[in-house]
Order: sequence, then structure tokens, then C-alpha cells
Amino acid sequence: MIPTPCCQRMADDLNRTCALHDDRSDCPDSFVAEMNGGYGLMIHDGGSSAVKIGFCPWCGASLPSMVC
Ligand SMILES: [Zn+2]
Ligand SMILES: [Zn+2]
Repeated sequence: MIPTPCCQRMADDLNRTCALHDDRSDCPDSFVAEMNGGYGLMIHDGGSSAVKIGFCPWCGASLPSMVC
């Protein structure tokens, strides 16, 4: 189940599509990715890695933790 975004900035980022990058993990304008029911901050190192975050980078809301 996809968690409900805590704020509009989060929702906008999750729904962002880019004309240049088919994959959001390739786009430097994308910050947050859904990860196993939680959220991660994408690391743009050429791969698709992301670091789990416990709080929203925009509004500071506590985010649901991942189910591993
Ligand atoms: Zn892009
Ligand atoms: Zn938020």
C-alpha cells in the first residue's frame, strides 16, 4: 500500500515526471522515492540507491517506516 503524502511538496515530488529522464532515479530534480511502504531520499550516483528517511524534508512530518 502506498502511504499518503504528508504535504503538497512531497506529493508533487512523488508525482514529478521529467521530459529528460524516463526513470525518476536518473533525474536530479527528483528527491524522494517510495521504498517498501516508507520513503527514501534518492542518491544520484548513477544507480538507483536511496537512503531511508524518517521525516519529510519539506514539512518535517514523521513518515511511515518501511516494511522490510
Ligand atoms: Zn530530469
Ligand atoms: Zn511533508
